[in-house]
Amino acid sequence: MKNIYLVKYGEIAIKGKNRYLFEDALLSNIKNSIKRLGKFHIKKEQGRILIEPENDIDSDEVIDKLKKVFGIVAVCPGIKNEEISMDSIKEMALSHMKSICQNNKYTFKVETRRSDKSFPLNSMEISRDIGAYLLKNMDGQLLVDVHNPQIRLNIELRNSVYVYSKVIPGPGGMPVGTNGKAMLLLSGGIDSPVAGWMISKRGVEIGGIYFESPPYTSERAKEKVIDLAKTIASYTGKFKLFIIPFTNIQMEIFEKCPHEQLTIIMRRIMMKISERIAKEENAQALITGESIGQVASQTIQSLAVTNAAVELPVFRPLIGFDKEEIVNISKKINTYEISILPYEDCCTIFVPKHPETKPKLEYILQSEKSLYNMESLIEEAVANKEIIMIE
Ligand code: ATP
Ligand code: MG
Repeated sequence: MKNIYLVKYGEIAIKGKNRYLFEDALLSNIKNSIKRLGKFHIKKEQGRILIEPENDIDSDEVIDKLKKVFGIVAVCPGIKNEEISMDSIKEMALSHMKSICQNNKYTFKVETRRSDKSFPLNSMEISRDIGAYLLKNMDGQLLVDVHNPQIRLNIELRNSVYVYSKVIPGPGGMPVGTNGKAMLLLSGGIDSPVAGWMISKRGVEIGGIYFESPPYTSERAKEKVIDLAKTIASYTGKFKLFIIPFTNIQMEIFEKCPHEQLTIIMRRIMMKISERIAKEENAQALITGESIGQVASQTIQSLAVTNAAVELPVFRPLIGFDKEEIVNISKKINTYEISILPYEDCCTIFVPKHPETKPKLEYILQSEKSLYNMESLIEEAVANKEIIMIE
């Protein structure tokens, strides 16, 4: 008998010919996520992935990691035995039930599936016999309830016998790496980490870009962004973070442009620089944490003017979300506690008192004409970027 994990995946099973690409990506992402926890044998098997630890491992740790791998619908920790006989099934069922039952009473039900049709008993008969065996051998702890049992003991007869009862939900989505690449504009706020998480959940590989404005933004604000990137990387596997010095650009805008337009022009230049980096990184889109109407720079008019700065598609997965909905996701994915740390990000320093809420592109373009130095400032900022690989 061996301890194993059965990994179930949903959406990717319906992908027709691409299915193998998806399965291979999932397999490799699973390998990466648990490689530091021990040695594992991991393989595809009949529409699921089977993980067999080769040494003693901390099962909770393995499950915590797997719960973050996009594409996984459920993880079932259980046991496997190559011998397919009623005796071995009985032994496995009893051993599994003993391992999960404390000193309480439980209602239970046995459910059997078999792809091995040569086995002398059918599924119903196996369930019935194993149920009776457990009732007899668990010291009166168990009671059958076929409708709403506390424990559903699953027995699967395939090339081996598998027994499990826990079905732990995974994050769903698609394996990272199966849907291209995008660059996330990552600030220290609540929204952008959630936006990045949502897009990577759809199988998109992501990297991050953070604009810092020292000395107006502190080293701790940057550390905070790095911590957010690490949390995102705990889902995506790896994460390349670009840190772009933005002070000179902000000063230039501050000096040359009408102050009510500062934010919108700054946002446009962030987008332009991000697009440049995205192209260098072979990324096909940008991601931001914007949602309609949240602040002056996120009115529908402002979003349109920001958007007009770039050619690449800009994904804004939070566009229709209320703050509370975003906060709920950020708590779930563990970015909230980091995001609410008080260190300022660059936007708060140069925020105009009366920001434009309905900017017109033609006036903004007019103002940007006075930024004749901008191209070289952008070159300089990109040349001075810092790159941090987070794994
Ligand atoms: P967040 O909570 O993500 O900071 P926000 O509600 O504070 O968003 P803004 O400050 O208007 O909104 O920023 C909108 C989006 O622009 C952010 O979600 C992020 O994608 C991007 N952004 C803002 N500031 C920065 C920055 N300093 N570096 C990188 N991206 C930024
Ligand atoms: Mg912000």
